[in-house]
Amino acid sequence: MPRVRLEILKRSKKSRARLGLLHTAHGTVETPALVTVATQAAVKTLTAEQAEGAGSPLLICNTFHLHLKPGEQVVRAQGGLHEFMAWKRPIMTDSGGFQVFSLGFGRDYGLGKIGYRDTTAKVGLKQKPKLLSITEQGVTFTSYLDGRKIFIGPEESMSIQAALGADIAFAFDECTPPNADRAYTEMSVARTHRWAERCLKARDPKQSLYGIVQGGKFKDLRRASARTVASLPFDGFGIGGEFGADKKTMTAMLREVVRELPEGKPRHLLGIGHPDDIRRIVKEGVDTFDCTVPTQYARHGTAFTSRGRLEIGSSKHLKSRAPLDSACGCPTCTKYTRGYLCHLYRAKEYTAGTLLTIHNLWHFNELVRRVRTEIRRGLI
Ligand SMILES: [Zn+2]
Repeated sequence: MPRVRLEILKRSKKSRARLGLLHTAHGTVETPALVTVATQAAVKTLTAEQAEGAGSPLLICNTFHLHLKPGEQVVRAQGGLHEFMAWKRPIMTDSGGFQVFSLGFGRDYGLGKIGYRDTTAKVGLKQKPKLLSITEQGVTFTSYLDGRKIFIGPEESMSIQAALGADIAFAFDECTPPNADRAYTEMSVARTHRWAERCLKARDPKQSLYGIVQGGKFKDLRRASARTVASLPFDGFGIGGEFGADKKTMTAMLREVVRELPEGKPRHLLGIGHPDDIRRIVKEGVDTFDCTVPTQYARHGTAFTSRGRLEIGSSKHLKSRAPLDSACGCPTCTKYTRGYLCHLYRAKEYTAGTLLTIHNLWHFNELVRRVRTEIRRGLI
């Protein structure tokens, strides 16, 4: 399998945005692109055909979840992720590093990656997460399925990802909690860098591998992390963790990181891509990004439309014969009325999730396509 290669078609004169083509063994992706989340080898509520029909150019599956269930050897025996899930386009696998946070300090403090309050107790060098232990060697998780202990270090993450067989693997890292203090973040980032070197030694040479920049909300640590990871022979770079409390800080921090990364290699922003963020992050030079918002909100009845958000569960839609969004050309909007979707949602039919997910993914993919057009035309 040839490794990925980014062909840059155009660089913006107004921002750091770039228009490109990400060439992979499973086809070419126009960038900037939104990566659709398919945690357990499925875009929740959709078939592979439906995800393709919603315009998803590439997927990101989750190493930790697939290691737990069904296990990477099951996937390998079925010919790898592409064959297993009948998805022909490119796939990325996350490294499991996000779960070091979400099942560790994230769980202990009830934190998401962003939006924590400053009053939250800080994580320092003396704190240890309750349900997992992090050492130089790697991380011991407690399975949420049966309580069994699972060890994943850089070598394990690489061998799991090689067996899953995605086009792009990510280096194993610790996504530092947003409430980590400077000392903790410094220690964690240094370890993530040592893990990055071990990942490079243990990688499958046929698979593309992205290194991950961490550094929390500390500008100098972010820059230093970007510089260190950029100096290693990765095929591309992931930018992980949190970026401070507000969007302005996020943009400033991204700028610091991106300036340290090599121009010719792809950059992926992990776990960010709210409609308000898309233009902002693309303008900082991000090529791909993944986000659970379109799929997750769909399952909770929220449609993103050209006129803002729409809650399909509200009974006021029952009598409407209008589509979710009259400006949308997606398979849902061309066939189904708000009234029908509202009924399905209120009746708790799975089809509601399917139809809303198709619409939201289409809507987001359209947003990104428009951003690409703006770069092409020199508007951003
Ligand atoms: Zn639609």
